[in-house]
Amino acid sequence: MSDQHDDHFATRLSHLGRPGTRTHGFVNPPLHRGSTVLVPSTAARREGWKHRYDQYLSYGLHGNQTHHMLEDLIADIEGGTRCQIVSSGLAANCIGLLAYLGHGDHCLIPDSVYGPVRSFCDSVLAGRMAVEVSYYRPDLTPAGLEPLLRPNTRVLYLESPGSHTFEMQDVPALAALARQHGLKVLMDNTWGLHFFQPFDHGVDVSIQALTKYAGGHADVLLGSLTTRTDEDWRAVRQTALLYGQYASPDDCWLTLRGLRTLNVRLRHQMASGLEVARWFAARQEVLRVLHPALPDAPGHGLWKRDFSGACSLFGVVFRPEFAEARVDAMIDALRLFGIGASWGGFESLALPTYGSITRTASSPDLGGPAVRFHIGLEEPSDLIADLAQAFDRLHARPA
Ligand SMILES: *Cc1c(COP(=O)(O)O)cnc(C)c1O
Repeated sequence: MSDQHDDHFATRLSHLGRPGTRTHGFVNPPLHRGSTVLVPSTAARREGWKHRYDQYLSYGLHGNQTHHMLEDLIADIEGGTRCQIVSSGLAANCIGLLAYLGHGDHCLIPDSVYGPVRSFCDSVLAGRMAVEVSYYRPDLTPAGLEPLLRPNTRVLYLESPGSHTFEMQDVPALAALARQHGLKVLMDNTWGLHFFQPFDHGVDVSIQALTKYAGGHADVLLGSLTTRTDEDWRAVRQTALLYGQYASPDDCWLTLRGLRTLNVRLRHQMASGLEVARWFAARQEVLRVLHPALPDAPGHGLWKRDFSGACSLFGVVFRPEFAEARVDAMIDALRLFGIGASWGGFESLALPTYGSITRTASSPDLGGPAVRFHIGLEEPSDLIADLAQAFDRLHARPA
């Protein structure tokens, strides 16, 4: 058999994670559901239980072939070797932190971290487990980060670009510093997905909300933790199982199905996203567009150096003279954009972020009210026409 890792991304998405000849020729895997796994003897039972932290069929909670096929495919997409699927992206974030942190440890979290992760850090890690949590400016250089290290620092957590505010991080430089000091480097790589290869840049554990582009159809909630080493995989898998983490096989199956079209969706949405982002950038009502692939955007140099593409999620900052109520009215006037959380599906979304950004190490002020846009699979010219009509509301006197 040729080495499948030599195949291009598009080819691997089509060929990996398939059941081979085990399903009488059907291309897609069967959907396995179940709790009890029967074994032929008491001895087999004792032997099997020893392997419950392996990718082994011992009990439903420990995963079945549907989970394992998805795990192997995700590990491949991220350039890692092993993966653990959990029930949501947020569960993956939390399990990753819990795998390496305990009473008295210290961790470093970017100020631009996904909001629910901040809540977890504040209420569970700091609030109940006596873990010291420091938030740092996401754009810190290694020289700026070094003074924040303590003798008990165990984890450097990264997310690039940041949630809502899209700051880019110098991942390889920060990860190199962390490694020198023996820290584990965890990264939420949901935005980068395949475009950022975390293990080429010093990351130990890469976290994905598969809910987003991997699922791709706004119909599943799922998360993953991918590792380069077997040791890290065991640490996250054991933690996931100790916490009773389980992912629905139906959602795993749907995500395997979603992944077959990931490459075409991503490429299409990247192009559409850039087209709409450029339209925003040319409008006089707009102060800045927070899209790392635009040459004027903050962090563009890092994106160009480290990423091979961009997804279709970005921010738009309106000039401060447009009050939040007017921006609200603009969003409410959109016909083709839904108002809602999450992203990565086929549908376009607009989400006001003013009033919902918490920052403790940097300023939440972007210079004006900001809206997060997700560009779906609609025709970009239709989306632009819709935005153009809604922009009239920015100038209308409020009713
Ligand atoms: C959505 C999101 C998550 C959480 O994913 P869920 O599956 O919704 O729990 C985590 N990180 C980032 C960056 C996200 O955007």
